[in-house]
Amino acid sequence: MSDRTPIIAGNWKMYKTTAEAAAYMEEFKGLVADVTGVEIIVCPPYTSLGNVKELAQGSNILVAAQNMHFEPEGAFTGEVSAPMLIDIDADGVILGHSERRQYFNETDLALAKKVRVALDAGLLPIYCCGETDAEREAGSTEEKIRRQIIDGLSEVGSARLASVVVAYEPIWAIGTGKTATPQIAQDTISLVRGTLADQYGSEAAGQVRILYGGSVKPENIGELMAEEDIDGALVGGASLDAPGFARIVKYR
Ligand code: PEP
Repeated sequence: MSDRTPIIAGNWKMYKTTAEAAAYMEEFKGLVADVTGVEIIVCPPYTSLGNVKELAQGSNILVAAQNMHFEPEGAFTGEVSAPMLIDIDADGVILGHSERRQYFNETDLALAKKVRVALDAGLLPIYCCGETDAEREAGSTEEKIRRQIIDGLSEVGSARLASVVVAYEPIWAIGTGKTATPQIAQDTISLVRGTLADQYGSEAAGQVRILYGGSVKPENIGELMAEEDIDGALVGGASLDAPGFARIVKYR
């Protein structure tokens, strides 16, 4: 067993009104109140972020955004900055989710700045990487993952590496119901850790929490968490239901 504290994070994507988010939090807080030794994070859309953070005060639930811009302010219509997230007491931010890369053209280079800016601001960055079905079929998973890790984390020095969380999310497993086998998840996460070790040394790499994401459910979280290098999960669809997400959080 590693001494890395596990993280179970729920990415709500573009779901839940403010009323739905508040009702979820009232129920979820009670369901996980007795959980210790696991960092619990919910990632609501911007419209609910401040309110969810207020509702989470005094609980064991952290709150993260799903994206942010790297500039502190400016003429960037539709964007939100790190100081704005700090202003509402957000704890972290998901960066480089595959849906952001695919639909909003986010590049590793822009993400490298976002990761650095998040760290500078004191936000926990959850940096996502993962290959498509075609890339896995073509045998280029390793090349893709190494590139995303090397380029996307290029502005992080080894002293701050432990403050970064990486989420390995195979794109073919996101929202498809097709979970990576624990072996595939372990092997690819071990590749992520190996890449970090090449870049930053094995001691620093050994401190990084690396999550698995892709159709995680109450039924499969246990076998995924049993793998040596898997330090938690980034959960999409199954995090939208408070009792179901609480079961994932209580995987032990
Ligand atoms: C995600 O959006 O990060 C995700 C893993 O989604 P799902 O759990 O629905 O596959």
